[in-house]
Amino acid sequence: MRAVPPSSQSAPVEMLPKVVLKPQKSRKFSSRHPWVFEKAIDRVEGDAADGDEVELVTHRGKFVARGVFNARSRIRVRLYSWTAGQWLDEMFWRQRLQEAIALRRHLGYDDPEGAARLVFSEGDGLSGLVVDRYRDYLAVQVTALGMEARLPLLIRLLVELTQPRGIVVRTERGMTQAEGISLRDGPSWGEPPQGPLLVRENGLLWQVDMMEGHKTGFYLDQRENRLLAARFAKGRRVLDMFCYTGGFSITASALGGAVEVTAFDSSPKAIELAKQNAELNKVTNVRFGEGEAFQVLPELVAAGQRFGLVILDPPKFARSRAARQEALRAYHWLNRLGMELTEPAGTLVTCSCSGVISREDFRDVLIGAAQQARRSVQVLEQRGASPDHPVAVNCPETEYLKCFVCRVI
Ligand code: SAH
Repeated sequence: MRAVPPSSQSAPVEMLPKVVLKPQKSRKFSSRHPWVFEKAIDRVEGDAADGDEVELVTHRGKFVARGVFNARSRIRVRLYSWTAGQWLDEMFWRQRLQEAIALRRHLGYDDPEGAARLVFSEGDGLSGLVVDRYRDYLAVQVTALGMEARLPLLIRLLVELTQPRGIVVRTERGMTQAEGISLRDGPSWGEPPQGPLLVRENGLLWQVDMMEGHKTGFYLDQRENRLLAARFAKGRRVLDMFCYTGGFSITASALGGAVEVTAFDSSPKAIELAKQNAELNKVTNVRFGEGEAFQVLPELVAAGQRFGLVILDPPKFARSRAARQEALRAYHWLNRLGMELTEPAGTLVTCSCSGVISREDFRDVLIGAAQQARRSVQVLEQRGASPDHPVAVNCPETEYLKCFVCRVI
């Protein structure tokens, strides 16, 4: 693998291997969708090794974009620049990282004791790279071989731009295989965090396990939605299914004024941290329990339990298009029970983080669930992920999180 991209600004463009599209296939890429699948490609001219910089051209040889090649992935080329002659060199990556970091500063997500997603892959024009900041530590997630090949450079730039105390690498299940990435989870620069870190979000304190926790340790994408859900908690009994380390539950109790909160998650480690988080925030009316949703929810319904606020934030049910139908059935089942558990005129906050389930699909699920539960449902708000997870308008796949706030009559 030739890991290092050509760095000379003046190197002749003819040196770059060319990926030639099939006829009529360039529109999507001209409108800046960053993933070029094998089926759109006619041929590769020149010698392109995995991780190499390539130029994408139309069938007639006209420039479309610059990207990085990987024959091992279904995404043969990931595109990064639509400017002819722009090398994907150190200056280029530095500028992209700077732009991403500037957005978070602009959002006010720069509490030194807080956390934020600094880089969100396609959403920041950096397909295959995610960087989360927890206090002065960074978690770097690499989901593209081209980013793995450039990791030493990217880490050097992140150190230069953010002066962290330490950087850890986290990989995503399935992606290492899909891309041919050989990276492993672990500390990669500076000092590794000693045990869970204490991080502030929405004025509350959270223990985050960057090494062993889900994703990079915390579900940063739900930051704003936790506050929103808390608005509907006042004076109510709350059910938080899939509570992880207590994000929604503790916010609903500490900031929302819930009467009591019942919260379940199937992960014992998550429940352990959730209990610690409740203590840290001096919250005493949240009961955390280990439980499987598919067992717990029918039991609650059978016991005639009702809640003024029900929160459903399940894991990703569909990892691929092929898994869509089964996932839709699971969302339907879950939301039907969620509605049955909501008292009349209560609130249901329901989420889906499956990228292959669209907002429309999810709304259809809610229509079907409401019909079966024999309830009328008003949608009060529709949310996505927090704005440190920007959606690239031409890459709908970046809009993975749907969060509907419903009044269930
Ligand atoms: N709401 C959380 C994030 C939830 S992520 C927050 O704000 O931080 C989804 C959670 O569902 C994970 O913690 C996972 O452990 C849990 N989970 C996965 N399958 C489950 C199941 N069948 N029953 C209960 N919990 C499950």
